[in-house]
Amino acid sequence: MFENRKIDWDLNEQSQPKGTYHCSQCSTPLFSSDQKFDSKTGFPSFWAHLGQNVQQHLLETYGRERIQLLCHQCGLHLGHLFPDPRTPSQVRYCINAESILLQK
Ligand SMILES: [Zn+2]
Repeated sequence: MFENRKIDWDLNEQSQPKGTYHCSQCSTPLFSSDQKFDSKTGFPSFWAHLGQNVQQHLLETYGRERIQLLCHQCGLHLGHLFPDPRTPSQVRYCINAESILLQK
């Protein structure tokens, strides 16, 4: 399953033009292709989000802090936020491919 998703996203990367990524549940614009980041993880990754449309929620699980990303509009779980020195903002939005849709 994981492998399939990874391949799908890579294909999308190559074939899809620039646009805006919207919440797959409520269509709120969440990310821009201009702020996409090639993290080499197989997950869609960005270094910034659009407006106030992505909510950050601090999770403490097993003594580890993680920041969960949610759609501000409908609360859909989008992924997690990680520190990443490779990006312009020093953070990386690691997103589940099925939670966003590209609109051109
Ligand atoms: Zn949503």
